[in-house]
Amino acid sequence: MSEDCLFCKIVDGDVPADIVYESDSALAFRDISPQAPTHVLVIPRKHISTINDLDEFDRQLVGDLFMAAKQIAAQEGIDESGYRAVMNCNKGAGQSVFHIHLHVLGGRGLSWPPG
Ligand code: AMP
Repeated sequence: MSEDCLFCKIVDGDVPADIVYESDSALAFRDISPQAPTHVLVIPRKHISTINDLDEFDRQLVGDLFMAAKQIAAQEGIDESGYRAVMNCNKGAGQSVFHIHLHVLGGRGLSWPPG
């Protein structure tokens, strides 16, 4: 838990969120500013600021985030049409909340490469 972290506050229930998935290790909720018909953020309950802060003990946790993304995509009905699961690392890549989160985006065509 990091006191100034918005997503830790969502984990603790101190900031409301539209939660779509919960497990012992992870939580997922709808992005407040959706960039696609489905835009869900999957986060670990544990505070980790960026991908660069992952350590060996987080291997299972990172796997949990992708397993959650898979389940959410099926729940949202975008698993067959296609979706993107992406994590930004640091400001230059667009990270604005420093508690790692997997963006799960789908429900429309997604171009590549991203901007
Ligand atoms: P990133 O820019 O990769 O760090 O992604 C942060 C995401 O968090 C953005 O897509 C924001 O729209 C989203 N976001 C910020 N505040 C909230 C909030 N209170 N509830 C849900 N999503 C949020």
